[in-house]
Amino acid sequence: METLEFQAEARQLLQLMVHSIYSNKDIFLRELISNSSDALDKLRLAKLQDGLEADTSDLHIEIEADAEARTLTIRDNGIGMTRDEVVELIGTIAKSGTAELLTKLKEASEAKGDTELIGQFGVGFYSTFMVADKVTLVTHKAGTEGHGTRWESAGEGTYTIDDAPDAPVGTSVTLHLRPKDEDDALYDYTDDWKIREIVKRYSDFISFPIRKGDETLNSMKALWARPRSEVTDEEYHQFYRHISHDWTDPLEIINMKAEGTFEYEALLFIPSRAPHDLFQRDARRGLQLYVKRVFIMDDSKELIPDYLRFVKGVVDAADLSLNISREILQQDRHIQMIRRRLVKKVLSTIKDLMSSNPEKYATFWREFGRAVKEGLLSEPDNHKPILEIASFATTGGTEPTTLAGYVERMKEGQEEIYFLTGESRSQVENSPHMEAFREQGYEVLILTDPVDEIWVDAVPDYEGKKLRSIARGSVDLKKDEEEKEPEGDFGPLLGFLKEKLDERVKEVRLSHRLTTSAACLVSDSDDITPALEKMYRAMGQ
Ligand code: ADP
Ligand code: MG
Repeated sequence: METLEFQAEARQLLQLMVHSIYSNKDIFLRELISNSSDALDKLRLAKLQDGLEADTSDLHIEIEADAEARTLTIRDNGIGMTRDEVVELIGTIAKSGTAELLTKLKEASEAKGDTELIGQFGVGFYSTFMVADKVTLVTHKAGTEGHGTRWESAGEGTYTIDDAPDAPVGTSVTLHLRPKDEDDALYDYTDDWKIREIVKRYSDFISFPIRKGDETLNSMKALWARPRSEVTDEEYHQFYRHISHDWTDPLEIINMKAEGTFEYEALLFIPSRAPHDLFQRDARRGLQLYVKRVFIMDDSKELIPDYLRFVKGVVDAADLSLNISREILQQDRHIQMIRRRLVKKVLSTIKDLMSSNPEKYATFWREFGRAVKEGLLSEPDNHKPILEIASFATTGGTEPTTLAGYVERMKEGQEEIYFLTGESRSQVENSPHMEAFREQGYEVLILTDPVDEIWVDAVPDYEGKKLRSIARGSVDLKKDEEEKEPEGDFGPLLGFLKEKLDERVKEVRLSHRLTTSAACLVSDSDDITPALEKMYRAMGQ
């Protein structure tokens, strides 16, 4: 037997669990069932796709409670783990963004004493330490001969690991429950009704039987296959939690069903908050793919474009091969068609929200607008629907405006949509470029997201109105006078400046652009903007 130490981050997370900072302890069972369900999916898939020899005729999850011994065991006959995998998967937290998660959790628990925030993260296996003072995990990986592995810990810094000679294929997790709390002695996690209640509540849709004794506790109905009117919000929300590990309720739920030559069903969720890793390259993205109710893969990027990567959900396609690989998926015509339809549906759902529920729309755009705008670079076909759901900060007020709103307010004779990019609202508002526009009452969009520098060049116009940076070239507020302005007394000064600035400027000229500032730098119409120049330089180009 070996005694090993938890990795530092894992230890910190465990500390939070052991000291029970989250009030809803019931979720530990959901987490264990969810892991078992994943393990069963993996085994079925390994057999199907890699030809692993395994008995998959009775894949299931089993719950066993012993009131006397105060133990609760959750057992599955899924893929199992090797010894190395146990050390890696259970002894460390390999997930990206964990450090950030921990900081947030700690801030939250210190600040408010309120720790509902923890529910917003998938704490997974460690949540067992909220209710147990010792956890024993016995596992045997399918396809490995010989013995299994036994892991045990009290959640305090170390764990032991040992061979388990007779362990059957699969995994069992036994919780040695903490002594009952005087305060919440209303129930015990070995109570039959309590277990039923939790399973029904959080895990009803799990597609494998969850058994206790001879009884199956869950209905196993695929939620996406049921008509919307028959599913409660609570059921949708639980399912969303299962697939997303996000505990805040989704902002919007989308059901789709296509019949005919190519059949599929989809259940999509738009979250109500951006995940902390929305802009990290290695973040998980994509949808779950099922074929006729059989789970095929997680994170299928082929089903949804990158700019909608925050959308969660399931696509169940009827006519794909169960053996389909990621490589084939990329080229599959049907998948491309589904993807186009999903995009269309998501964008139109947001558009509907703008009028039906402006508050929800505002939340959506605040959380995800920055990602959605990336679509203006990658999908020329969707410029129009994306621009229609976009909104922007504006000199016209404190609330963001849509382009339609802007166009409606355009001044008589104004033909273009004016914008200025920069790093912050105040920087843009105080820019010398803004002076003449402010003076003459023109509204200017304030674009401060990094992606704004780029998409404005990719989008020619909105409803025939050109998008025009007020920092570039000559924006003729006073038609063409700029160019023709006689130099008069300023001739020598302009010559002097040109000579002094030499290589650093192309031209020095008089302008109506400014009212209070003495001078400003202007780019040529087709030069890149200073911020973009900076970005390219940072990217090493
Ligand atoms: P997550 O499920 O989000 O990855 P968990 O903490 O719940 O995080 O589990 C960590 C990992 O441990 C899982 O990803 C899985 O690889 C492994 N694991 C947990 N439970 C089981 C199980 N019952 N069977 C096989 N592997 C498991
Ligand atoms: Mg898990």
